[in-house]
Amino acid sequence: MIRRKATFVLGAALVLLILLGLALSTRSSGAVPASSPLLAPFAARQPVAAPRSDPQGPMDLLFPIANYARENVRDTFADPRGDVNHEAIDLPAPRGTPVVAVSDGKIEKLFLSKPGGLTIYQFDPTRAYAFYYAHLDRYAPGLDEGQTVVRGQVIAFVGSTGNASPSDPHLHFTIYRLGPDRKWWRGEAINPYPALLRAVSR
Ligand SMILES: [Zn+2]
Repeated sequence: MIRRKATFVLGAALVLLILLGLALSTRSSGAVPASSPLLAPFAARQPVAAPRSDPQGPMDLLFPIANYARENVRDTFADPRGDVNHEAIDLPAPRGTPVVAVSDGKIEKLFLSKPGGLTIYQFDPTRAYAFYYAHLDRYAPGLDEGQTVVRGQVIAFVGSTGNASPSDPHLHFTIYRLGPDRKWWRGEAINPYPALLRAVSR
């Protein structure tokens, strides 16, 4: 009787082990994960998406300028500029300083505007947000609309195009929360200051 019971217990344990093995192999045999290093030649990848319900927008951003001094990050979002609010953060930097993508995503629009000069609208992978880079001196060679970019990839260079003073080159950066129609020109600006401050101190 005892031997039969032991055999049963052994058998049950074996079945459990096989089931566990099956579950593990199913998990590991999936498609190549999106975080494959092959897809990220320019920068170490980190989780990108912030919860969409986050009222502050995407928080886990890379700072758009490498080795930036924290004391130069000031909250100029609500500053009045003529009849409107600034709704962006200005990051002073020498002309020609590389500007990097703050997140993975896609170049949605390269736009020349009177106030912004040479600008980039980059969508995040969820297409919930647009990152706006303005007053650019020039784009990175080969940059084009529809192009996929990775976090940390050089996309442009700091300048003073548009209504920036030539003696004050800076990156004008903001985040737009996109509407359901995902139009690059119809977003609602959200203050990137908290995200930038977090990013610059990392
Ligand atoms: Zn500005």
